[in-house]
Amino acid sequence: MPQAIAKLNAFPVFMRVEGEAVAIVGGGEAALAKARLVGQSSAVLRIITQAPEAELLAFIAATGAIHIDAAYEAAHLEGAALVFAASGEEVLDRRVAEDARRLGIPVNAVDRPELCDFFTPALVNRAPVAIAIGTEGAGPVLAQMLRGRIDRMLSPSLGALATLAASFRGAAERLPNGTGRRRFWRDFFAGAPARAVEAGELSQAHDAAVELLVSNAPSSGHIALVGAGPGAEDLLTLRAHRLLMEADVIVHDALVPEAIVAMGRRDAERLPVGKRKGCHSKSQEEINALLVELGREGKRVVRLKSGDPLVFGRAGEEMAALRDAGIAYEVVPGVTAAFAAAADFELPLTLRGVSSSLVFTTGHDLKGNSLPDWAKLAISGATVAVYMGRSVAAEVAGRLIEAGLSPDTAVAVVENASLGTRRRFHGTLADLPSLEARADLTGPVMTIIGDAVAGANFDRSEPLAAHRHEDTASVAAEGVEQ
Ligand code: SAH
Repeated sequence: MPQAIAKLNAFPVFMRVEGEAVAIVGGGEAALAKARLVGQSSAVLRIITQAPEAELLAFIAATGAIHIDAAYEAAHLEGAALVFAASGEEVLDRRVAEDARRLGIPVNAVDRPELCDFFTPALVNRAPVAIAIGTEGAGPVLAQMLRGRIDRMLSPSLGALATLAASFRGAAERLPNGTGRRRFWRDFFAGAPARAVEAGELSQAHDAAVELLVSNAPSSGHIALVGAGPGAEDLLTLRAHRLLMEADVIVHDALVPEAIVAMGRRDAERLPVGKRKGCHSKSQEEINALLVELGREGKRVVRLKSGDPLVFGRAGEEMAALRDAGIAYEVVPGVTAAFAAAADFELPLTLRGVSSSLVFTTGHDLKGNSLPDWAKLAISGATVAVYMGRSVAAEVAGRLIEAGLSPDTAVAVVENASLGTRRRFHGTLADLPSLEARADLTGPVMTIIGDAVAGANFDRSEPLAAHRHEDTASVAAEGVEQ
């Protein structure tokens, strides 16, 4: 049998308060909290207290609220749309509640539910959009937690989008009822107008909405090149999370953990495109073509890349293909692996007096006779973060030592940075070649070289050179993008 849904004892409504007075009796913290809450509306605040705390006084001065500096009497409530009894004194709060009721004004008494006609919600404010969370006073902490969660889900520009939507309501009414109108609004809130508002381009958003209104063409697609971060789910940005929840299709690399891909909309199509050494994967050209095709089909696509999409992510080629095809795209940055590895090691990437520059490299450009620029920077003191550096560890160490960097220069290596499975190793440049032969490292590996590495915390790391394998390790998990 289906479970009966419990009945609400407090029914949520949105009350019109523009220009209306809201009376708050009290001068302490509780009164201030209510003043701040109601202050998010356009009601006129009337605060009745002879003993306002400094913060409440500052609030009154800053907001232009009316301050009645007199001993409370019922007449102070007259004409108010709502009353808050927030004096903290039981006798006074009870009197205020009784007066309000006699005057026919709904009243809320702080921490005295038995005296309340209404409860105040935890509020997510994206005016004109509001989300009010109520627990009938059962769980203010729960309400605040839910508030935080919902707040993170919603774009800060939602209010501006809703305001723009309101200005198009009349025009949209002239569209044929049903599918046409629904499609307009769907494309408005999920398509080009919404994206332009998000980017702070209000006039562009307006033009995009007009375009939607006049053209009957299906909306064009959009590709977001999104940084998924180094692996830990909670290192994803809020924007990445939001886009994942709105995506029709998620195209992801092998290095992006399943837990992150699973954060996408449940019915989103998921397309793994590989990019892992030794595994079957699509070529870069095939990926470019796939993104263009999805864009042409009008899909909202999240192209998830590990770390930051613009660091060794071949985003340049994907953006060029999208530009050539005239498909809209945007880039959402992510936490790059070097930053996660540094955090795991408490390693200052720049260190006052020791290192003031930072190099991101792969070491795959060491083959030629001339020394690449980054190697020169390393010798002059830069901290060097080597991506995909495992299979070239010996070459990197050899060339740097040959060029004059001390074999004693500190080196830190992190496998699976940011993840629970991470392993940390430390040693010197002379130990670095041993990395190539380690069969026990199957995850992605980040190597950081330089004097600043000496400032890291080696408490939870293993010595790099302790473990020597004769066989050449497979480099299964090493990304092959460059
Ligand atoms: N765009 C990514 C880099 C892709 S190249 C970024 O900004 O991080 C792939 C390389 O990144 C791997 O070979 C490895 O060197 C590094 N990498 C990615 N995730 C990592 C992790 N969790 N721990 C250590 N290194 C990582």
